[in-house]
Order: sequence, then C-alpha cells, then structure tokens
Amino acid sequence: MDYDTYGSTAVELAIELANTDRGDPGWAHEFLSSHDDWFTPGTPLELSPGETHKAGATADLVRAVALAQTQDDVLTRLNELLALARPRPYATDHDGELHLHYARPDAPVLEQLTTTVAMGLSQVVVQHGWQRLGVCSAESCDDVYVDTSRNASRRYCSNTCASRSTVAAYRARQKA
Ligand SMILES: [Zn+2]
Ligand SMILES: [Zn+2]
Repeated sequence: MDYDTYGSTAVELAIELANTDRGDPGWAHEFLSSHDDWFTPGTPLELSPGETHKAGATADLVRAVALAQTQDDVLTRLNELLALARPRPYATDHDGELHLHYARPDAPVLEQLTTTVAMGLSQVVVQHGWQRLGVCSAESCDDVYVDTSRNASRRYCSNTCASRSTVAAYRARQKA
C-alpha cells in the first residue's frame, strides 16, 4: 500500500502495532525487532515488563481511535495518545530520502515508538479525516486499517479479507 500520499508513513507503524498479537509475553521485543528500521540504529530493543505494558496501552489507544464512531470520540482518544508522545522532530536522510523523524534520536525505544505512532496517526486524522481509520468488516478479522482509497470506501484490512467476504456473501446468497 502507498502511504506516501499521506505525508506520513509513520501511520503504518501505528496500524501494525495495533494489529500485533500480544499473546506471547515477549511480543513487544519481537515487534520492535521486526520494525527496527523505524528506530535509531543501536537503540536497545529490550523492554521491561512495565514498558511492555505501556507499549500495549499505546496499541490499545490506536485501536480505540480506529473504533471511534464520532469526531469527538476520535479527538478524545487521539489526544490521550498524543499525551504519551514526546515529540522532538529532526530531519534526516539516513535512508537516502530527506524526511522527518518525530522523536529525538537518542530517546529510549519506547519513547521513539510511542511518539512515532502518535504523530503518524494524528497526521492522517487531521490531514485526511478521522473516517480514514477503520476496523476490518470481515467476519473473523478485527485488524485496524488506514483507508488510502481515493473515495474513502474501504471496509476491509486487506484484499484477502475483502475477497474472503465476497465469497462468503455469495455462498450465503446461494443458500438462501
Ligand atoms: Zn527514517
Ligand atoms: Zn481483515
């Protein structure tokens, strides 16, 4: 999916955090390791149990923003998330492209994560509208997504869920 038109690719990190399975106690370290290109190279990726809990609370807030049904609710939950952020932006070209990072480069990984997620998500909401965030309508899926379609008409997290639901609806019609 192309998030570039959204002025912020950081929303991708927010969505993936919200959709991460937290069943395993080591989930946060696993998530950070598989997304380590978002953090300053050399940042330790170990989290204490308390920090892991905070990362989970951030994930819950991202989901809460996506679930909210009114602009007022979105703003309340978004501001709760933003209150956890410690933005201190800086410009970088570490990957060859000039862009902004939202957290100071020497911040602990939890601060980098929370700040990047909160800023990325709020950029999308204030620039493109709160309706751009949603939760998948497929029966056995509750992944959150950001809708980058031109007319904001998406209902599923992925093409897989969309086609699975189309097939299920077809079968249901056949039975009826
Ligand atoms: Zn970067
Ligand atoms: Zn889905």
